[in-house]
Amino acid sequence: VPMVVGVSIAPLQTGQAALLDGDSGLLILDPDAATRLAFDERHAAQTKRRREETAVPGAPAVTGDGERVQVMINVADPAELDGLDPAESDGIGLVRTELLFHGRERLPDEEEQLAIYRRLLDWAGGRPVTIRTLDAGGDKPIPGLTRMGEANPFLGVRGVRLSLRRPDIFRVQLRALARAATAGNLKVMIPMVTTAEEMRRCHALLSEAVADLRGEGRKAELPPLGMMVEVPAAALEIEEFDVDFYSIGSNDLLQYVAAASRDDPELADLARPSRALLRLVKIVVDRARSTGREVSLCGDLGSDPKYIPALLDQGLRTLSVARPALASVKAAVARYRRPQS
Ligand code: PEP
Ligand code: MG
Repeated sequence: VPMVVGVSIAPLQTGQAALLDGDSGLLILDPDAATRLAFDERHAAQTKRRREETAVPGAPAVTGDGERVQVMINVADPAELDGLDPAESDGIGLVRTELLFHGRERLPDEEEQLAIYRRLLDWAGGRPVTIRTLDAGGDKPIPGLTRMGEANPFLGVRGVRLSLRRPDIFRVQLRALARAATAGNLKVMIPMVTTAEEMRRCHALLSEAVADLRGEGRKAELPPLGMMVEVPAAALEIEEFDVDFYSIGSNDLLQYVAAASRDDPELADLARPSRALLRLVKIVVDRARSTGREVSLCGDLGSDPKYIPALLDQGLRTLSVARPALASVKAAVARYRRPQS
């Protein structure tokens, strides 16, 4: 369903003719005949291209030079997996566990969380599943948990900052994750990391959860522990972080680089991909390469085919994208050729 958000227009009249182009973010009211014709032609070409892109959904993504690119999916609701063959993606690159709060006041207890995490791992059938610990706050306020009335919630107590202040909630999630790690290819990712000390504390808490569980006679594993790179200070000092993997959160990274809110339509021309953002991506990718760590990008930038060449140019070879973008991202990868140096 094409959709354009953040436009301010006078109310539409019932029956008024309108053309809506979700790809370019255009809403054209009362189009003339020539505009309609041009639109119809573009629409027909796009429909044909989409049909071709989805013709071989299970095929792995390979660049025009024959390089394999991992394309995984982002999950914010387990229902997104309904009807999706796991073989169509290379796994789940981001599970937003704020989903645990959907329609409820409290975080589910350890057993309930474990059941949800296991369901995701079962679906993936051995492919990697990266579960992000709670990223509450900022654009994801949770009544009763996140601080109300913060002057600037995006720069406030969100993500790991909140989890470390609420060990009662964080411990339950880490225990459920440590138990789930015995049931599949699980990785745990920490959001909104700014300092190496935050990661050390997360690592200590996760190790403690594993030790406690084993002490209670339960099965538990220490899964690989990685960080989201979405704070510019973390990207610039990425060598300070001793983690198993990095995943670049371009949604937040670009709003912090541009100092322009990611959800303010008035600032959309500032909060968009820039050379500065790509330089930060490259710093992280180069560091990952030189230390043999995995690096991916799970922000929405990876779901937009027009940015795929720029991301691959920075050396990225793993993307995690919105499910509806899977086929068009793979097609954009197939069209890509590495620039001649
Ligand atoms: C990001 O910031 O790019 C990201 C993936 O996290 P979220 O959109 O959930 O903040
Ligand atoms: Mg983010």
